[in-house]
This record gives sequence, structure tokens and C-alpha cells, in this order.
Amino acid sequence: MDDLTLSDYVNRSKDRVLGSLIDWLRIPSISADPGHAGDIASSAEFCAEMLRSAGIENVELLSAGGVPAVYGDWLGAGSMAPSVLVYGHHDVQPVDPLDEWAAPPFEPTVKDNVLRARGASDDKGQVIMQIEAARGLLGALGDLPVNLKFLIEGEEEVGSPHLDELLERERERLSADVIVVSDTTMLAPDIPSTTISTRGLIAFDVGIRTAESDLHSGIWGGTVPNAALVAAGLAAGLHDSDHRVTLPGFYDRVRELTHREAQSLADTPFDRVEFCRQAGVKELEGEAGRSPYERTGTRPTAEVVALHSGYGGPGMKTIVPATANLKIAVRLVPEQSADEVDASFRAWVAGQAPKYAEVTVTTVGGVAPLMTPIDHPAVRILGEAIENVWGKQPLFTRSGGSGPEEALGRILEAPVIFLGIGLADDNYHAPNERLELNQLWRGTVAAGQLLLGLRSLNSR
Ligand SMILES: [Zn+2]
Repeated sequence: MDDLTLSDYVNRSKDRVLGSLIDWLRIPSISADPGHAGDIASSAEFCAEMLRSAGIENVELLSAGGVPAVYGDWLGAGSMAPSVLVYGHHDVQPVDPLDEWAAPPFEPTVKDNVLRARGASDDKGQVIMQIEAARGLLGALGDLPVNLKFLIEGEEEVGSPHLDELLERERERLSADVIVVSDTTMLAPDIPSTTISTRGLIAFDVGIRTAESDLHSGIWGGTVPNAALVAAGLAAGLHDSDHRVTLPGFYDRVRELTHREAQSLADTPFDRVEFCRQAGVKELEGEAGRSPYERTGTRPTAEVVALHSGYGGPGMKTIVPATANLKIAVRLVPEQSADEVDASFRAWVAGQAPKYAEVTVTTVGGVAPLMTPIDHPAVRILGEAIENVWGKQPLFTRSGGSGPEEALGRILEAPVIFLGIGLADDNYHAPNERLELNQLWRGTVAAGQLLLGLRSLNSR
């Protein structure tokens, strides 16, 4: 089995695969809306059927807090062969604002080799790519080079609230030597890339009270504490004039990049004007002395995500606000510990807030960072598969986001690698989500190549 045979298979299968994907995309599997629970169930069933028809065995719906994840495996490679777990998700983001869609989100359209629909690239297209790679290999070889397992989750878009529990419960069945995630993007069709890390996340909800109730600004203003000012002071104090986070010890564990990583980052093309245009901003700001990609992928950040106080309705209400609320999200990079940042944040708030303010800090979430070393054998094999198909060595990037990959790696104790074929302008989570079909076809060949390459990985 080589590249050519796989490409041949993909070429012969395009109409059928596209037909299946379109049928799947018609199912509005929006996990955020309980009204779509029936669609989540239909979507899981649809996915299960695709796995079965591809030759995957033991296909089953696994309940995660009542929401179906899809499992299936093919274990015919024997106990000496490595096991590979493919992860993706079949739920999709909500679709509003609906009036910004050029066509209804669940009525897929294909034009100029681009498929448009909610879920096209995030993540149904990338899941079907993995299923088709397995189908192609099974069809051509009659077996697979590795033991292959699929876990296709149904609540990724709402933060995977039951994934840890599911992974703990099914740890044995899901155990693998490597986890392949197909739910990310590449830099561009002619700049193949793969992610080697995701950032961690810890968030804080800070409640502030400076009086028993709001006070009249004419009678009391100018002589009593103002909760809005306390919140604004905390928000403003979070960074210094170099935009470095002021939490004590915040950067202590942050390591500089290895030479190869720094080189990959330096080779990553960056268009400042386009970057600003995509963000819809006039200027960039952030940690001094660091490039934008360094800041979003390799450096920890603290963002004020909400700041509320006083009266926000129409007109004016002349008060001194008694309460304020501040929410801060901190993204962590490898080696940082969510617990240490939690302690540091609490100590910092206690030191910054005036004594007259009652301040409560609630920690929300806590996802650890994930990192697969750039020189890990599985990363090398993935790099070769991508290079075979795209004709260029991939750049190694770091994802700024935080996702379920960390739980997969931590609980299943296996390295996580990313074969993601989405593109930056695929409108993830936004109106007019799209998938470039060439990326899908190339990705299918690469997914097959990857399985062939992973055969040489040591099984544990
Ligand atoms: Zn996704």
C-alpha cells in the first residue's frame, strides 16, 4: 500500500464520501441547545453506521452524561502491534447570527471545491477523513497496520463536561500508544503545519462589594468607596507597562523554545495587516519583545474577559455602585501549574484590593497545558505523512486554545498528535463555516499514511 494506491482510492470515492458528509451535515447536532438532543442522537447513530460500513468493529454508543459518544475499533493487528486512538467530535456550534449565513447552515452547498455548512471542518469533515482512511486501507489490504480505535465525542463544543468521566470509565477499552486528534487547522494549503501543544486554562470570577447597597452619587459620591473603581484597579493592575502579567512567579516555570521550535516559529509566515483584518482590530498589543504567534501559542496570558458594575441599562442612574464583578481567563503553557497560578492569583488579589472591599475569588475550570515533544517518534511519523502528501515538511505550531486533548493525553497516558486539515479562514464557530475539499482528500491520504507509518511505533 503506498501513496498512489491511497490517492487512487480517494479519487474513486470522492462522490460517495461527499454524499455521506453532506447527509451527516444536514443533522443539526448542536450540543449547546438541549432542544437538539434528538439530533445529537441521530448524528451519533449516523457516525456509528459509517464506522460499521467502513469495516470498524465493536461499534457502540457510549454515554457521557447522557450524551452519546461513538466508539468503534478494529483490533486485528495483534497484541504486538501498536494501538492508535482517533479522536474527533460529532457535535457542532450554534449557528447564530443566522442572517449572516449565505445559505442555511444545515443545507450544505458545494461551490468551487469548497463545502459550506455548520460542522464542515469542525469537525465532521475531519472525522469522515479518518473513517475513510481506515475504510480505504481495510478495503485494499483486508486489514490495518495497527489496532485502531475511534472515539467521536458529542459534547466537545460545550467544553466536554463528561469526557474525563468517560475516559476514566473506559480507560481500558480506549488505551492506546498514541492518540491522533483531527480537529485543528493548518496554516495554509501550501504551508502544511501541525500543532504540538495546546495551552492550559484557568479562570477566576472575582466578586467585589464595597457597601451594603448602591448609594446616591449626589449624597454619598466622592466620600465612599466605589466597587467599579476597585474592579477597574484590579483589571488595570494585571499587566505592567510591558504587558507582562504581574502575578508573582507567573513566568517562573515558562521555558524558552528549543532551537527547532524557535526555527519553526520563525519560518511561520506572518502578515500583520491580514492578521489585524481577521481580528477586526487596528493595532496589536501584548507582551513586549514577543511576536504575535509567540504570544498566542508559546506564552502564558491573562485576559480580562468581563468587567461589570453599576447600572448598564438605558439612560443613567446616578449611583455609587456597591458591587462589581471581574472575570479573568489565564492561558497556561507547558510546565506551568494551574494550582500554582490559582494560589498566586488569590494572593495577588488579596494584596491589591483595598482593605475596605469584600472580595471573593472563585476558580472556574482548570485545564492543564498539553505538549508532545517535537522529537517524539509519533510526531516524526506524522511529519513524514504530511510531507508525503503536501510535498513540504510541516511547520510545528502551538495552539493558543485549550481543549479535550489534554484530558485524553493525561487520563489515557499517551502522546497526542494532531492531523488537522482545517484552514484559518474556515470560519470555525462563525457563520459560513467551510471546508476546502482538496484539504479533505489530501487529509484522507495522509491519515492512511499515518496509520501505515505508526506501525513502527513501539507498542507498550
Ligand atoms: Zn472542533
